[in-house]
Amino acid sequence: MPYKVTVDRVLCIACGAAPAACPRVYYLGNDNGKNRVVEQYSKEILEDKSVGEVPDELYQCAKEGADVCPVSAITVEKIK
Ligand code: SF4
Repeated sequence: MPYKVTVDRVLCIACGAAPAACPRVYYLGNDNGKNRVVEQYSKEILEDKSVGEVPDELYQCAKEGADVCPVSAITVEKIK
């Protein structure tokens, strides 16, 4: 089962911690400099939100990015 990754780009302060912890899932977008899900796994990209779906093997990585976020802007949840 894949996982849904949501980045609240309003809360995001573009600190770079999530992309540093998990570059396979996150990077700072060149639209507004805030975190987003990489193109490969992106489902929706907006100014204020980025939503993606990542495979099981990237759960740990995606979760680590969420855990290091100082403003809790990232959620990772199992897709049922
Ligand atoms: S760790 Fe949080 S605040 Fe920092 S770039 Fe990632 S989402 Fe944005």
